[in-house]
Amino acid sequence: MRVAIIGAGIVGVSTAYELALLGHEVTVFERRSSVAEEASFANAGVLATGCLGPWAGPGTGWKAMRSLFEGPAALRFSGLHALSQLPWMWRWWRASRPRVHRANQAALLRLAQFSCERLLGLTRDLGLEFEQAPGFLVLLRSERDLKARKTTLAALQDLGVAHELVDAARCHGLEPGLHRATALHAAIHFPQDGVGNCRHFAHLLKSQAQRLGASFRFDTEALAVAAGRAPRVELAGAEAASFDAVVVCAGVQAQRLLSGVGVSLPLAAVHGYSVTAPLRHVDGLPPPGPRAAVMDDRHQIAVCRLGQRIRVSGLAELGGRLDDIGAAPLRRLYRTLDDWFPGAAATRDAQHWKGARPMLPDGPPVLGASGAPGIWLNLGHGGSGWTLACGSARVLAEQISGREAPLDVSGLGVARLR
Ligand SMILES: Cc1cc2nc3c(=O)[nH]c(=O)nc-3n(C[C@H](O)[C@H](O)[C@H](O)COP(=O)(O)OP(=O)(O)OC[C@H]3O[C@@H](n4cnc5c(N)ncnc54)[C@H](O)[C@@H]3O)c2cc1C
Repeated sequence: MRVAIIGAGIVGVSTAYELALLGHEVTVFERRSSVAEEASFANAGVLATGCLGPWAGPGTGWKAMRSLFEGPAALRFSGLHALSQLPWMWRWWRASRPRVHRANQAALLRLAQFSCERLLGLTRDLGLEFEQAPGFLVLLRSERDLKARKTTLAALQDLGVAHELVDAARCHGLEPGLHRATALHAAIHFPQDGVGNCRHFAHLLKSQAQRLGASFRFDTEALAVAAGRAPRVELAGAEAASFDAVVVCAGVQAQRLLSGVGVSLPLAAVHGYSVTAPLRHVDGLPPPGPRAAVMDDRHQIAVCRLGQRIRVSGLAELGGRLDDIGAAPLRRLYRTLDDWFPGAAATRDAQHWKGARPMLPDGPPVLGASGAPGIWLNLGHGGSGWTLACGSARVLAEQISGREAPLDVSGLGVARLR
């Protein structure tokens, strides 16, 4: 089949690779001049199956509401634009109900586990190096923080996720760079999770897809798509082209394209930040910073090692502008870095970044047929697109090829969002 993919973030690139591997003739249209230039550019890099869950969960609605009136919170509503997201918030609130949350959590976990297996397989088979390191610790500062995680721990147990509750001494053994003066009560250790450079991986997989014959057309914006037996893509500054299938992997911009074919998705941009800086080495001392990935559970901020650099990332803002990198959110990232790894990074040379997570209100992405003939969807991966990309791409490639999906895909289709 001749398949067009719109968007070359981590999701589009992975989809291109899987479709090319199954023998399809793939063309990727990307408006930017390279792959992974938007949400996939400088994300935290955490590959987490274990502590991954929908952001909408029992109690999170109230927590977010409180964040309107209280001090720093992990999720914030920014500016008047956030008010236009009220319908999205309502759906998010409804998805927090325990039964709905449990089903979404199970769907996400199935996809995440499959995705990490696929990522491992590709890494091994293709010999890929993308600054990966194993191990993920969720740091709990106090007994109260641990108590707040009791339900999560019970769910991990029920879902059979490999994890271990470790005390502070063991945390310091696993991550010797952790600052001993910062109060630490315990941590949840996910030995099979870890960290890797998403953008770097996207570049490697793009080359592999090209080797299989996929073509990438950069600086080429898709203006519209038309559904049908031979779906079409209208392009800026180039002739429209017809295909046998079109896959929309356009992240937060997807809705503009989908409206034209009558598909409406409750997709919101949830902004987050990252700071990336070189590790500071001192002769004679062991390397500073984390070995792999840790997350400060209270502040929902991750501190990760990416090769010879350290990346601090987190925060979630609904509303606001992508090009407005405020000083206050960055200060919060720097404070967390100082709490856990003081002096570990050469912050004078730090790069600051703000990205938009393509977020559906209930958590899982949307995979599969859109309902409009010939138009397929692989988008809405929210805060876990790096973790979920390889698995989502494989599922979609199998579906387009008319083969059975390699896992139970209930809860991942578009029907749930109508
Ligand atoms: C601060 C932050 C931290 C994160 N941390 C993690 C993490 O630790 N682990 C994890 O798993 N995930 C993480 N994520 C989430 C992850 O980065 C995203 O889910 C993922 O990058 C989404 O990938 P995507 O390909 O769908 O979107 P994108 O990377 O945004 O790609 C979409 C592409 O489509 C292109 N496009 C859009 N419209 C058009 C058009 N009309 N024509 C042509 N091209 C078009 C865009 O230019 C873009 O390149 C984080 C996100 C943020 C913001």
